[in-house]
Amino acid sequence: MFRRMIFWLLVFAIPLSISANSLAENDNSETLCQSDLALVQVNFPTARANRCDVVSPSTLNLYIDPENKPINDSAWYAFRLVPKQVGNIQVILNYTHAKHRYPPKISYDGITWELLDQTDVEDVSETEIRLRIKLTDHPVYISAQESFPVSKHNSWISKIAASPYISRSIIGKSIEDRPIYKLELRSDDDVQKPYVLLVGRQHPPEVTGAMAMSRFVETLLEETELAIKFRHKYNLIIIPNMNPDGIIHGNWRHNMGGVDLNRDWGPFTQPETRSIKKELTRFDEGGDELVLFLDFHSTWRNLFYTQTDSEQTRPANFARDWLKEVDERLVDEVYKFTREQSPNSGKPTSKNYIYSTYGIPAITYEVGDNTDRAALALAAEIFAQEMMENLLKQKGN
Ligand SMILES: [Zn+2]
Repeated sequence: MFRRMIFWLLVFAIPLSISANSLAENDNSETLCQSDLALVQVNFPTARANRCDVVSPSTLNLYIDPENKPINDSAWYAFRLVPKQVGNIQVILNYTHAKHRYPPKISYDGITWELLDQTDVEDVSETEIRLRIKLTDHPVYISAQESFPVSKHNSWISKIAASPYISRSIIGKSIEDRPIYKLELRSDDDVQKPYVLLVGRQHPPEVTGAMAMSRFVETLLEETELAIKFRHKYNLIIIPNMNPDGIIHGNWRHNMGGVDLNRDWGPFTQPETRSIKKELTRFDEGGDELVLFLDFHSTWRNLFYTQTDSEQTRPANFARDWLKEVDERLVDEVYKFTREQSPNSGKPTSKNYIYSTYGIPAITYEVGDNTDRAALALAAEIFAQEMMENLLKQKGN
């Protein structure tokens, strides 16, 4: 069973949510360009392609630009082809400010996504990638990663909030006035318990981090003996989506203020990070106790940025012990990961801010862009279980 998961299955039931509602959220409703074979459209949430040239009826040049410069090399793209005729079309992705990063995913129904076959992708250079796409009688979506739009976050948040011991609230709004949701575990209201804080999706393209976070949280909320015991001792705050505007606009990295939110923990200049700052006041001197912080992201491979062994945390050595326990259960063939001891560089990241403010383990949970999706979900369950085991072993429990 494990072996099967190593392969790129990438067949997910991910609703794209191209409802009339979500369509209206995007300003650019115009066709980017059209040949005799197809139209190129970017009028849906998460779309990004900036310009388009028609080279011939069957060849289109698409230019993919970032929202700002300079910017991290996370060249997100997403577009829709609406066929005028059945046939094959060549779409050339041209990157002006980055290298190609994400192997294209394709969907003919907006629900099921697959990796575009390798034989249909030609890497001419790091900045020019030729895609051959089969046109049928339906629109076809091409995206850097399978779609994980704001609507998917929000329906997951609603599902989780249906639990009797979870409350949902809005801790603030994005620049474009979208809610930043918080889920809070509130079982045994009258008992004061330490908190675990989980944050996600500061960076729009990082969908594998969002997938891992979903499964991680679900594992904490299951009716298993371990999870029930954990919830009896600990409370949870979950902020699944910090950057809804960036996701909708197909941003590579920033919010609509042109800021990398994970470089704004400290300055807190943006409404999205200010909403977190406000939430954190409950952990000020004499308030609630925060014991662990995890921030979910994606990068080139699976890894965890933690404090170094010489940086004291309370609880002590949590990251080292937690990841060691997981490593003993999770074979490399299924999910290989490393712990990167990353000292506080002074950069205003969530990890550095939380560690320097509270002295607790503050960990960046990074999932590989191309990690098998079933494997990342299985791993997230094990990381969640071992986190619960470890915290339950701490003094006082
Ligand atoms: Zn990130």
